[in-house]
Amino acid sequence: SSGCTLLRDPRYNKGLAFTERERDAHYLRGLLPPAVFNQELQEKRLMHNLRQYEVPLHRYMAMMDLQERNERLFYKILIDNVEELLPVVYTPTVGEACQKYGSIFRRPQGLYISLKEKGKILEVLKNWPEKNIQVIVVTDGERILGLGDLGCQGMGIPVGKLSLYTALGGVRPSSCLPITIDVGTNNEKLLNDEFYIGLRQKRATGKEYAELLDEFMRAVKQNYGEKVLIQFEDFANHNAFDLLAKYSSSHLVFNDDIQGTASVVLAGLLASLKLVRGTLADHTFLFLGAGEAGTGIAELIALEISKQTKAPVEETRQKIWLVDSKGLIVSSRLGSLQHFKKPWAHEHEPVKELVDAIKAIKPTVLIGSSGVGKTFTKEVIEAMASLNKKPLILALSNPTSQSECTAEEAYTWSKGQAIFASGSPFDPVEYEGKVFVPGQANNAYIFPGFGLGLIISGAIRVRDEMLLAASEALAAQVSQENYDKGLIYPPFSNIRKISAHIAANVAAKAYELGLASHLPRPKDLVKYAESCMYSPGYRNYR
Ligand code: NAP
Ligand code: MN
Repeated sequence: SSGCTLLRDPRYNKGLAFTERERDAHYLRGLLPPAVFNQELQEKRLMHNLRQYEVPLHRYMAMMDLQERNERLFYKILIDNVEELLPVVYTPTVGEACQKYGSIFRRPQGLYISLKEKGKILEVLKNWPEKNIQVIVVTDGERILGLGDLGCQGMGIPVGKLSLYTALGGVRPSSCLPITIDVGTNNEKLLNDEFYIGLRQKRATGKEYAELLDEFMRAVKQNYGEKVLIQFEDFANHNAFDLLAKYSSSHLVFNDDIQGTASVVLAGLLASLKLVRGTLADHTFLFLGAGEAGTGIAELIALEISKQTKAPVEETRQKIWLVDSKGLIVSSRLGSLQHFKKPWAHEHEPVKELVDAIKAIKPTVLIGSSGVGKTFTKEVIEAMASLNKKPLILALSNPTSQSECTAEEAYTWSKGQAIFASGSPFDPVEYEGKVFVPGQANNAYIFPGFGLGLIISGAIRVRDEMLLAASEALAAQVSQENYDKGLIYPPFSNIRKISAHIAANVAAKAYELGLASHLPRPKDLVKYAESCMYSPGYRNYR
C-alpha cells in the first residue's frame, strides 16, 4: 500500500514518529524528513505551538486540525493537559466555534441529518464509515450552551463532547458518532449569513419534527442495535423532557443537560456534607431557574433523599423549591405550569423576588440555573449568609458572563462563609489572608465515566439509580486535601481514575438491576473499566 495513504489517515498517521523500519516497510522513505521524533517530543512541540496562539478560537482550530491529522497525538495531548485544554475543546471556546462554524468549517466531523434526508435516515447512517458504534451524541442545535439557537452549527457540541468521551472516559474514538439533526433554525442572523452551513428555513415543529426524530431513533436501533448509547445534547426544554421520556423505555438514552447536570451537582452536594455536616435530608434547597438543569437536579436530590430515608419522593420533594421567570413556583400557579415544573408547585403564597423567596423559604443551599448572569446580588448572598453559618452557593449558569455571581463575590459578600462552586471556571480567591478554591460543577466529571459504565456492562436502559451511583462514586473521589481547600469536586488531573470509579459503580448498578447484557459480570469492575480504556500511545506497524 502507498505510504501517502498512511500519512493521510488520521487514525494511522504518526508523522515524524514513524520509525526507520516502518518507513522502509510502508513506502514512507522520502515522504518524511529524516528526523525521527517520539510521541513525547511531538507533544512538547505541539503544546509549545498551541500556547503561541492568544486567541482561544485559534487554539480550538489548531486542535481540530490535529484531530484530523493525527488522532492519537490529539488524544495524548488532551489527556496529558486536560485542565488546560478542556476549555479549548469544550466550553467556553466551543461556543464561539459553533457561532462561527460556517466560516471555520473544513471537513465534516460528524453526520448531518436534515429534513432533506427524511425517509432515508437508515441509508445516511450506513454512509458513515464505522460500523461499530457505541456512543452517539446528537443535537438539534436549538439551545447550544447558553447561546441559544445555532441550528446546524451546533455540530461543534457533539464533536467536542465525544472527544471528551474518549479523552476522559476512554471510549474508543472509532466507536463515537457525532450527529446533528437539522430541522432549520429560528436564528435570523444565521438565516441571513451567506456562510451558514445548514438548511435555510424556520424550524420544523410538531408532527414534522416528531416524525423525523422518530425515524432517526428507529434507524439508530435498527443499524446499531440496542446497546448503543444515544446522548441528547442541547435540545430546547420544550423538546428535551419529552424526547427523554418517550425513548427511555425503548432505547439506551441519556440527556446530559437534565441528567448529567443533576448527577454532577448531586455529587457536589454529597461531598459538601463533609464540610457542613448533617445529611442531605437536613437541608432546604432553593433554585433560581426551573428548566432542564434546575428541575433535573431537583428531582435527583429528591430521589437520593428518598433512597437514604425511605420516605416517598412526593414527600422528599417538599424541601426543594424553585423560582422561575415568574417567581416562586407555588400551587396557585399549577394550571399554567409546564409539566416538568408541576411536581415542585408546593403550598405557599406567591413570591416574586429571589431575595423574598430566600427570606420565606430559608434555604441552606442556593442553586442558580437560570442562564441569567449577576442574579446572585450582594443582598442575595448576604441573606444566605445571615441564615446559615456555611451557606452552599452554586452558580451554574454558563458561560462565565452568565454566572449568577463570581467566586470573589460569593466569598467576599458572605465574609468567607460560603461554600461555592460554579458552572464556569473561576480562579482561586484570597479573602482576609485565606485562599478559597472554587469548585467547577462541570458535566465532564460524569458523562464520560457514566457512558463507559453503560458500555462495559452492555446496559440496555438508563435508570435514575445509575445516576445516583455515578454521583456517589464522584463524591467519594474528593480527598481530605481537596476539602481542606474548600473544594467539593476533585481535580480534573485525575479524571481517568475518577471515570473508572464512576463507570464501575454505574456498571454494578446495571448488573444489580438486571439491565446488563455483558455476562458474566467481571469481578473487579474498576480494574475492568481501566482495562477497557483507549490509550493513545502509538502502535508499532510491522
Ligand atoms: P432552560 O431549560 O432554558 O431553563 C432556564 C430556566 O431559567 C427557566 O425555568 C426560566 O424560567 C428560568 N429563568 C430565565 N430567566 C429568569 C429570570 N430572570 N429569573 C428567574 N428565572 C429565570 O435552561 P437549562 O438547560 O436549564 O440551562 C440553564 C443554565 O444552566 C444555562 O446557563 C446553562 O449553561 C447552565 N447549565 C450549567 C451546567 C453545569 O454547570 N454543569 C449544566 C447544565 C446547564 P421560565 O421557565 O419561566 O422561562
Ligand atoms: Mn449541554
